[in-house]
Amino acid sequence: MARAMAVTALSHVYPLGSRINEAGRLEVGGCDVVRLADEYGTPAYVVAEDDLRARARNFRAALSTHHGESGEVLFASKAFPCTAAYRVFAEEGLSCDVATGGELALALRGGFPPARIYLHGNAKSPAELREAVAAGVGTIVVDNFDDLDNLAEAVPAGATQRVMLRVRPGVKPSTHDFISTGQVDSKFGLGLDDARAAIDRLRASDRLQLAGLHMHIGSQIFELASFRKAVEAIAHLGDFPAYNLGGGLGVAYTAQDEPPAIDAYVEAKATAVREILGADKHLAIEPGRALVANAGVTLYRVMTVKRDLSTYVSVDGGMSDNLRPMLYGAVYEAAIADRLSPGGELCHVAGKHCESSDVIVRDAHLHDPRPGDVLVTPATGAYGHAMANNYNGVPRPPVIFCRDGESRVVVRRETYEDLAARDLV
Ligand code: PLP
Repeated sequence: MARAMAVTALSHVYPLGSRINEAGRLEVGGCDVVRLADEYGTPAYVVAEDDLRARARNFRAALSTHHGESGEVLFASKAFPCTAAYRVFAEEGLSCDVATGGELALALRGGFPPARIYLHGNAKSPAELREAVAAGVGTIVVDNFDDLDNLAEAVPAGATQRVMLRVRPGVKPSTHDFISTGQVDSKFGLGLDDARAAIDRLRASDRLQLAGLHMHIGSQIFELASFRKAVEAIAHLGDFPAYNLGGGLGVAYTAQDEPPAIDAYVEAKATAVREILGADKHLAIEPGRALVANAGVTLYRVMTVKRDLSTYVSVDGGMSDNLRPMLYGAVYEAAIADRLSPGGELCHVAGKHCESSDVIVRDAHLHDPRPGDVLVTPATGAYGHAMANNYNGVPRPPVIFCRDGESRVVVRRETYEDLAARDLV
C-alpha cells in the first residue's frame, strides 16, 4: 500500500514513463537509477529516450492539427547538443536550429539533412557563414546589418541562400531577464524600424532570398498571450510566405510548475498566425527545453551531510554539470533515489565546487540523507549537458540513454587525460 501511494506521488517533473519500482527506487526508461549509478558512476545525466520521441511527436501532431501540413517543428539544439539527441530528433522528422558552427557540425553528425537546418546567431563569424553555405544549410537567420553583409559575401556568385530576418517585436514576456530576448533593448535581431530597412536590402539582393521573419521572445514562458502580442507587433512589416516564431514554451522544473500543454502552446501560435498574418503561411516553431528538459534527470552521490544552521547535503557534482541555478537562480527539486515520497528534512543540496553560489537546490526536502545515497535532480535534460564545464578540474558527466529497461552510454564520462588533452606542454 505504501508503495502504491509512493508511485502516484511521482510528479510530471520526471521523464514520461518514470515510476517507483518494486524495490522502492526511481526507474527512468525502465532502468533502476540506483543500479545505473553503481554501473556508470556519478554524476550522470540519464535520459529517457521514449520521452524525447513522445514530445517530438506531440509537437508535430499539434502543429499538423492546428496549422495543417505547412508547418515545421525545429529542435532548438542549444538545449541539448548531443549527437544521440540530434539523431533521435532527425529520426522523428524534426528540423533543427543551430546557434554556432559547432552545433552545426554536431547536427550534421547526428544525421540532420542540411536542408532542414536553420543557422542563428547575432555574431556569426564569416567562417561560420561560409561553412553553413558550403554545407547547404537550408535557412540562415540574418540577425543584423553586418550579418547581412557577411552572408552576402559568403554566398558564391550565381548561388542563392534562403534567409529569414530576425526581428524584435518589443514584447517582454514574464520570464527571467536573462532568458528574455524579444524586448525593445536586446542583443538579438533588429528593432522594427531597422527591420524595414533590412527587408528592403534583402529584397534587393540577388543572392539572399528572403522567405520571411523570425522572432524568439524568450524562454520558460507560461502565459501564451505574449506570443499573440508579438505576432501583432510584426504584422505591419509586410506580407511574407514564412514565419518562424521561435521557442519559449515553459517546462515544469518543480512539481508546483504547471506550464501550458504542448497542444495549447502550438494552438496559440498557429491561431495568431492564421488570424493576423494569413491562412497560407509556412509556420516554423523552435522548441528547445520543452523537448528535452523533463526527459532527463541527473544522478549524484551524496558525499557529506553537514547539520548546522542549515543542513547541507553535498554531492559529487554541482555548477560544472548544472549551471542554471547559479546563472538565473533557476529552481530545481531533489530526492533520494530510493526514498522518494514527499516530505522529509529541509536541506540545501550543495555542489563540490569552491563557490558559495554552488548550491543546486535550496530548500529541498530529503528523507534522512546520508553519505552514499544516490540523489536525483529531475528536469535537467535541457542546458545541463549543454552548459557543462570543467570548473575545478571536474570531468564532465556521461549521458546515458535509457529505453525499455536497456541503458547505453551516448556520451562517455571525461577523464583526467581529457582535461589535459589540449595542453601543449
Ligand atoms: N530559438 C531561439 C532562436 C533561441 O534562442 C532559443 C533559446 O534560447 C530557442 C529557440 C528555444 O527556446 P526554448 O528553450 O524556450 O524553447
